[in-house]
Amino acid sequence: MPIGMFEVINPSNEQVLREVAAHSEAETFEVITRASDAFSRWRKVAPGQRANLLRAFADNVGRHIEELALLEVANSGHTLTNARWEAGNVRDVLNYYAGSVERLTGKQIPVANGIDITFKEPIGVVGIIVPWNFPMPIASWGFAPALAAGCTVVLKPAEATPLTAMRIAELAYEVGIPHDVFQVITGSGRVVGEALVHDDRVRKIVFTGSTEVGIHIQRAAAKQVKRVTLELGGKSANIVFKDADLEKAAASAPYAVFDNAGQDCCARSRILVEKSAYDDFLNLFSDAVKKLRVKDPLSEDSEMGPLISAFHRESVASFVDESLVLFKGSAPTGKGFWYPPTVLGGVNPGHRLFRDEVFGPVVTVTAFESESEAISLANDSDYGLSGSIWTSNLGKAIRVAQGIESGNLSVNSNSSVRYSTPFGGYKRSGLGRELGPDATDSFCEIKNVFINTEI
Ligand code: NAP
Ligand code: MG
Repeated sequence: MPIGMFEVINPSNEQVLREVAAHSEAETFEVITRASDAFSRWRKVAPGQRANLLRAFADNVGRHIEELALLEVANSGHTLTNARWEAGNVRDVLNYYAGSVERLTGKQIPVANGIDITFKEPIGVVGIIVPWNFPMPIASWGFAPALAAGCTVVLKPAEATPLTAMRIAELAYEVGIPHDVFQVITGSGRVVGEALVHDDRVRKIVFTGSTEVGIHIQRAAAKQVKRVTLELGGKSANIVFKDADLEKAAASAPYAVFDNAGQDCCARSRILVEKSAYDDFLNLFSDAVKKLRVKDPLSEDSEMGPLISAFHRESVASFVDESLVLFKGSAPTGKGFWYPPTVLGGVNPGHRLFRDEVFGPVVTVTAFESESEAISLANDSDYGLSGSIWTSNLGKAIRVAQGIESGNLSVNSNSSVRYSTPFGGYKRSGLGRELGPDATDSFCEIKNVFINTEI
């Protein structure tokens, strides 16, 4: 029996959308038992058939993009445009990893007196713990390659945003993915999440969320030498050199940090601008921020919605020192957890605004004098997830990209995520990589077998 129900709230109008079960430790245990039993069958499904099931799953998600998007707009306050992209991303990630099932090849290695071959074997039951900021894509970056490898999956969405994960599981069952192969269990991190981490039948945890909880999970997993992939926080830099196309850099900078109301681990929340271009950049940036359409996320032209909760809005507000505010954008008043895009200057690198992840629409702008100062400011962080470099000098772009300790950089662009390229962090931003051509491997053990031919 669930230990209770929790309310799921629409953050743009504070209305209760639905009540969802808070599952218990005992129920999590049963879910893991079913996933363990199903593993022995799922791993033996012929590769072509497993690939076809994943393709059918992708197609079914593709037929429900609008429904999933509307659910995410209501549950997470994401703009309709973003939510459509996110549902489409789930479809694309499933299709991409469906292609990996029949390519999961081992090696034949030359050795003396025999033959040596390696097998890639699925790890077993995988627990995927997802945060509230991008419920659909982040779940699929774990479950698509895990299912492709032959693992079974137990997915725990965040309590605040469980609705799309629950619907995606139904879409999987409709096309014949067996129920126990892919289960979604709702409930809190302290109960369901902890139970997944501590159960030694779960052979890997894929966790995305705060660095604090990630460290706690890594420590607990170490007792069983359980595999972990961690995607944690960020405090990324957007570096603008004076030789950049300043208009383009400034016009796109709001989206690099205010997209999803700044609740994005890849948010470029520290803008670093070469001193001689600082004033010009700031004028252009101010125009762009004031033009940002912060409004009902259901409108087709909304560019930014609300924050996830009242509690989170308080946390974001606690960072903002009004005496350092350069300018703000707009935000609706009234119901909903709205917060305006906020730009601050003169922030000392020792200030928590420069160091800590705000996870809201708040950005600092800092001037630098030289290429080396830009690199050292960018690296003056415990995190290293993403970042952008704006310059027309290709050599400089490459030098700076090589100098920055970060997993995902873009030059003259602010985009970090493509399903076909690896994603993950340096330093306290994480451990391991998701997406890209090798993600299925991270759900496999390598078994080496030597066959004596001299007998
Ligand atoms: P969080 O508190 O760390 O929660 C993330 C998930 O972990 C939720 O499902 C949560 O469950 C669960 N959880 C909480 N405590 C747990 C525990 N003791 N054991 C097991 N699971 C537990 O993070 P959040 O506040 O939801 O998300 C914001 C953070 O995620 C930010 O710091 C952001 O940077 C980071 N993030 C990183 C990436 C990346 O790819 N690097 C992507 C997105 C977000 P409940 O909430 O249901 O209790
Ligand atoms: Mg939390």
